[in-house]
This record gives sequence, C-alpha cells and structure tokens, in this order.
Amino acid sequence: MLTGDGYLVRLHFSCGILASDQARHIARLAQRYGNGLIDLTRRANLQIRGVSEERITGLQAQLVAANLIAEDAQGADAPNVIASPLAGRSREALIDITPIVRDLETRLATELGARELPAKFCVVIEDGARFSLKDVAADIAFEACERNGKVRFAVLIGGGEVGGFVEADEIAATALTLMSAFTALRTKTVAPRMCELVREVGLPAITASCPALGGLSRKLWNARHDVDGRGKPGQDVLGLIADNVLGVGAPFGSFHADQLQLLADLAERFAESEMRLTPWRAILIPAVAVAHVKHIAAKCERAGLIIDPSDRRRHAAACAGAPACASASVNTRGMAAALAPLLKPQETLHVSGCAKSCASSASASVTLVGRDGRFDFVRNGKASDTPASFGLSAEAARAAVERIAAEDLARV
Ligand code: SF4
Repeated sequence: MLTGDGYLVRLHFSCGILASDQARHIARLAQRYGNGLIDLTRRANLQIRGVSEERITGLQAQLVAANLIAEDAQGADAPNVIASPLAGRSREALIDITPIVRDLETRLATELGARELPAKFCVVIEDGARFSLKDVAADIAFEACERNGKVRFAVLIGGGEVGGFVEADEIAATALTLMSAFTALRTKTVAPRMCELVREVGLPAITASCPALGGLSRKLWNARHDVDGRGKPGQDVLGLIADNVLGVGAPFGSFHADQLQLLADLAERFAESEMRLTPWRAILIPAVAVAHVKHIAAKCERAGLIIDPSDRRRHAAACAGAPACASASVNTRGMAAALAPLLKPQETLHVSGCAKSCASSASASVTLVGRDGRFDFVRNGKASDTPASFGLSAEAARAAVERIAAEDLARV
C-alpha cells in the first residue's frame, strides 16, 4: 500500500505468534528497506513503513525467502483472523484454538476465491481465557464456551447477538458460509460491514444459509461469560500480567526497529524466544523469567517503550498522520503526546489526521480531526461526529484541552 512516507508492507502472523528470530529479521529489513518504523496495528499485524519504490521488490524477495509472505501472494487479500493473544499457551483457555485458526486461515487463502469482502472484514476466535477480544470490531466472532465439560463456540455476527453455536471443527465452514451470505446479501444493500448488514436485513436472513448454527440453548453462552471477569476486554496488558507474561507497549503502536530488536533479544534471553502480537498496541512476552522482570522492564523503558499501564499515552490514539500519511496535514502523534498528559486519567484523547479515523473508531473525551493543517474539535464523540469547534490552530486546540482540564479540576 502506498502512503505518504512510501510503501507500507503489512505482515500477518497466525495467532499473533512472532518468534524472536522473525522479529529480529523484520527489524533488520525495516532498517535496510524502510524508514525503520514498524507499526503494530489494531488487527495485531506488523507494518514495515517508508519503503521506497526502488526497494519494494528487494524487500518482497527477502520476505518470501524468510517465509514471512507467500511467493504467489496467495491469501494476501483474505480477511484477518484475530485469535486470543495467548492462544495455545494459556492454562485458563477452554481449548487450544491454534489449529482451528490455522485451518481457517488456510481455507480462507485457498477457497475464498472471488468473494469480495471489505478490506477491514475480520474474524475473531476466542479460547475463553482472559484478554477478551470484545473490543475488536469483528464481522464474525467465535467465542469458546463450556457446559458440562463440553466446549462449543458461540457465533456472533456483526458484533451483536449470538447467531448460534458450532463445534470446533465446524468453524472454518461456518465462517466461509457466512462470508458467502454477506457478499450475496450485500449486493442488495450498501452495508460496508457485517454489523450494518445485520441492521439492514436482520440476523435470520444471514444465518438462514448456515444449518450448522442453532440447536443449543442461549443459557450455555450466558453461563460462560459470568465466570470471574474473563469476558472483560483485555486492554490493560502492560507490565507483569497473568503470572509470567510481560506486556510491553509502543507509543501509538509504532515501534522503532531498535525497539523490536530489543524485545527479540529479551524474549530470547529471559523467556522462550516467542512474542505475541495484540490488537492493543502492545506485544506480550510469555513465559518470562519473573525474577528478571524488573531488569527487563527498565531496559524497555529506557528504550522508549511503555510498561506502566497508567502511562497517559495509553489513553490516547493517534494515526500515522503527517508526513507519514498522504491524507494527513497535521502531526497527529506529536500533538497526542503533548496533549495526553493534560487530561485526567479517565479521559481519552484521539488525534486523527483526517476524518477516516484509522486509529480509533471509538468515542473519546476529546477528538481532534486534522483538516488543511488545522484541527476540528469534538467533545465526547467520534471523528465522524459534528465538531464543537472548527479549524483550530495547534495552539488553540491545546488551549481548548487545557480549559477542559481546568474545568474538571474546578469540579473536584
Ligand atoms: S486517519 Fe487519515 S490521516 Fe490518519 S492514517 Fe488514516 S487516512 Fe491517514
């Protein structure tokens, strides 16, 4: 994909599993062929940024040689499958979903054919352990649930209601059938994603073609999600979590090659040479040697990475902005880094380079949307909402945020 700072090359890792030698290789390639920056996206993918026209072919050849992409680009357009970030490793999981995810990815790459799906279409598969993916905007989600020792998957369509339940070995076929239903029904509507299609044609019209769904009581689902908070979205993934998992964040999800290299070295030296990519701008290092966590955390912080969950940048979202994105006219991340500390801990900030809102689709306490080098200001809303003020300079936007902070202080 061509962006403001050159080509952007996106890499997907099944179940977000990134071996330390793969991470080190990607870091080297980002330095040699790109501008040294690697994004961790909201789909838990990595993006090498800033690759020039002359270097793109060389980078592709290196990625193929390292088995990081397929030579024939098979599956490159397939929808993302996002799995529970500790898939196959968590003792809390009801089932190991790694083979299920791989089976689905293989079938999406080989069988999806000409079914045209929107670029952001995605499938989520959860194993029932902590770090729920509920905050990922999934078109189709499969969530493991259990009753009387039997595990099945609740199928959520368009992020809303449960459409039915399936066995583990029915997941791939169910996903493909639902995608077919989406493309068939969508021709009659303008629905950009599954949630809009559900609103327009109703759930029964979509599930009608999928006989595997249904037949189980909804109670099964409810029972599962009452279990000690495991159903909560897993956003606070920094620091030592889940006994021996260390979560490390990058400001706004942007890692420098040196930082990725450092994580690879630490995972190799103090853990099991494996990392997990999450959709929450953080990488997990599982099986970390707990006795060394302080030392590892200090090294990460010195390198500019985030370990402290209360770091204000965790409450701010900002897209690549200018100059990285050709659609942007403002420096989003600089602005977000400067404004985030001004807001109260419970307030959130979103600085978007344009109305497309790539970094966040959620509502924020303050949203600034870049336009012609200035900012439109939305209070308690999304980038698509009507701004309270238009065309503010960077200084005026900062003053507006300072006023909010002062009003909040006066209210205490
Ligand atoms: S929101 Fe706009 S400016 Fe920001 S990355 Fe997306 S397209 Fe570019």
